Amino acid sequence: MLQAALAQQELFVEYQPLIDLQTGEITATEALVRWQHPHLGRLSPASFIPCAESSGQITAVGHWVLEQACQQRMTWTRIGVPLFPVMVNLSPTQLHEPAFADLVRAVLERTGMSADLLQLELTEGALLQTTKAIEHQLSKLGDLGIRLVLDDFGMGHASLHYLRSFHFHKLKIPRELMEGVATHERDAVIVRAIIDLGHKLDMGVIAEGIEALDQVTFLRKESCDEGQGYLFSRPIGPARIPELIAQDRSTRPLPIARTTTATQQALDTQP
Ligand code: C2E
Ligand code: CA
Repeated sequence: MLQAALAQQELFVEYQPLIDLQTGEITATEALVRWQHPHLGRLSPASFIPCAESSGQITAVGHWVLEQACQQRMTWTRIGVPLFPVMVNLSPTQLHEPAFADLVRAVLERTGMSADLLQLELTEGALLQTTKAIEHQLSKLGDLGIRLVLDDFGMGHASLHYLRSFHFHKLKIPRELMEGVATHERDAVIVRAIIDLGHKLDMGVIAEGIEALDQVTFLRKESCDEGQGYLFSRPIGPARIPELIAQDRSTRPLPIARTTTATQQALDTQP
């Protein structure tokens, strides 16, 4: 079905903005795939990505998402959307493809997109069995000028040794660790430690799954760099990103989607 879905253009991509937690500017968008199934309706990636992984279809799906995201970034550039990067999720299987980095380079060439506008998100799972071949792919991606983001940090296998070998540009704190950050001291201690670790290793730190103002207050106090979550914006269709930016311009300094003036004032007056 997935194979047919690709051919019949049932897959589509939404984009979720990331926000600079100090200025409220949009700093990037994450590409998230969806499936509009003719009978089952709209399916979330959580319901089909695992199947795509086990069936091997993830290679084709991942490649399609990458190409879509690059094309979309070029469309935004043409209509004057500021040059923030687009972030694309990678499955571990894709990294095992011997020609993966060449394939990415070909997509960049075909779409005309510059490498610094692409960031690839990898989970810890992708680095569990790091072979020479994977190291080679990662270093080729680095040579192309593509930045790597460590996704869902701390949710995989508690092995930190890969942080010594690979240079990630940023790390993402997963939603699960963010949930109790403003209410539970143990959660706060963990997130504070991750932010500190990220910064000391020269990485930007992104917090995912921000749904409440008190999480933003905590993150700003802890100097977390960027945030992503329903409080700012859900993943949205690509045409809505320019709208969001237009909205930004009129509502600075914390121009975040679905944020009312009252919310913004509350944020501005937070210590
Ligand atoms: P992820 O990479 O951790 O992406 C973040 C997920 O959290 C997204 O779910 C996003 O919609 C959701 N999210 C963002 N902010 C909030 C929030 O404030 N509250 C809550 N409750 N959720 C929030 P989504 O779009 O359903 O994607 C689920 C997962 O599917 C992604 O998790 C990623 O692992 C995978 N995925 C999505 N697109 C792709 C893709 O193109 N390739 C691969 N390999 N995986 C993908
Ligand atoms: Ca991600």
